[in-house]
Amino acid sequence: MHHFDPSTEIQDYLVFGEYGDVNPSITDSSTYTFLNPKTMEELFAGEKEGCFLYSRHWNPTNKYLADALAKLEDTEAAIVTASGMGAISATILQICQSGDEIISSRTIYGGTYALFKNFLPKFGIKVNFVNISDFNSIEEIISDKTKIIYTESISNPLLEIADIPNLAKISSKYNLKLVVDNTFSPIFLTPKHLGADIIIHSLTKFINGTSDCVAGCVCSSKEFINQLTDINNGASMLLGPVLDSYRAASILKNLHSLHIRMKKHGENAQFLAEKLTELGIKVFYPGLKTHKGHQLLNEMINEGFGYGGMMVIDAQTKDKADELMMIMQQEKVGYLAVSLGYFKTLFSAPGHSTSSEIPEEERIQMGLTDGLVRFSIGLDNNIEKTFERIKKCLFTVGLIK
Ligand code: PLP
Repeated sequence: MHHFDPSTEIQDYLVFGEYGDVNPSITDSSTYTFLNPKTMEELFAGEKEGCFLYSRHWNPTNKYLADALAKLEDTEAAIVTASGMGAISATILQICQSGDEIISSRTIYGGTYALFKNFLPKFGIKVNFVNISDFNSIEEIISDKTKIIYTESISNPLLEIADIPNLAKISSKYNLKLVVDNTFSPIFLTPKHLGADIIIHSLTKFINGTSDCVAGCVCSSKEFINQLTDINNGASMLLGPVLDSYRAASILKNLHSLHIRMKKHGENAQFLAEKLTELGIKVFYPGLKTHKGHQLLNEMINEGFGYGGMMVIDAQTKDKADELMMIMQQEKVGYLAVSLGYFKTLFSAPGHSTSSEIPEEERIQMGLTDGLVRFSIGLDNNIEKTFERIKKCLFTVGLIK
């Protein structure tokens, strides 16, 4: 366990608006005036920092949010993007060129998997999918074309734990960039402290927490963030995944309650995981001692924030999973919906939704079976009541007696 507390860093992040407003005014401009054309020239030449030119490049509200996210991940700098996918694609295309290769965990979010498998080859970028715990295979695949090791800290949907310190050792040995998607574990895991070079989030999920917008971020060194935003060569500048400043402002407000929410998501998920296990249900939750990566996660996490809000159960067959989800929605356990990190519980069957981009054969190989139901556990104050409701649903579909 680590004693780093990202919430204290965010607590100390105070922004004074133009008029001393505690929530600074939201940037309502796409372009910015210059008093002198020379200053504008310097900015284009990359010689000037700290002033704003055009909102796709940077805008004040996005900068406030980005600076707060850099505090969260304890990195030198960050940028925000219009989606998690925008953050991932900009990062990859900044680092790789035609002929380069990436080594990626095979258990990643389906959209990222589809980007890597179907889209990047169009640009001559090849992705080798691996079991991210098999360090020997990873080292065997590395060649002078390899540029990135890519993983999710806690994988979607199987909740496998990546050994970030060991992956960092390999990536620094071969001078690669270790890119970690930390969407499932904000605040309780700080990949930078474990050796990651670049940390990505889909802000859409826990960090925003209200399922009302799509957004992303990249946290890294000042050097890499400057590369991404470079006017002439930067992927975020040139591909254009700019986050709207109104959304950036609302995400920044929500970020300040992230620590409270993560503790509650974790407490509720731990309670349900233990209770459902007692009923004889096969549960995947990293806070359970029986979880394959529990020990490893304990060595990596920041103390006091729990093990996150994601939990998976095995309903055995697709039909049972479907029936269970329908009944759970009727019984007000939560919503049958993709995504995660909402204050209400969300559930979906990953094999047929968020991970359906992964071919069936590969899904079977990685244990992503048809009967899995993924939960993003909400902030219910009366979690005992939620458990009783789930129990009733499990009984109705015949998963318990
Ligand atoms: N990374 C993970 C782990 C995700 O679960 C998701 C979305 O589901 C993404 C990235 C993509 O983020 P977005 O939907 O904000 O583009």
